[in-house]
Amino acid sequence: MTHTYSLTCQELLASISDYVDGSLSPELCQEIERHIRGCENCRVVLDTTTKTLYLYRQSAEKIALPGEVQERLMSALDLSEFFK
Ligand SMILES: [Zn+2]
Repeated sequence: MTHTYSLTCQELLASISDYVDGSLSPELCQEIERHIRGCENCRVVLDTTTKTLYLYRQSAEKIALPGEVQERLMSALDLSEFFK
């Protein structure tokens, strides 16, 4: 019996961000998908991580302000810091 490609929960959790990024090899993705089918814990973690990263990226795009707004914001922050 060879278990060289069987992931433990720890290994899976360590690879989750790469998995979500799509930077894992197809073989490793398959291993992860096989694992989460049989492991409720990791399925929940993966689900949560995927959603969190997705939301984070969405809001990161919204936070990307136009240069002018960002400049005003920066100077406002600098001023409030200055007058403390
Ligand atoms: Zn697991």
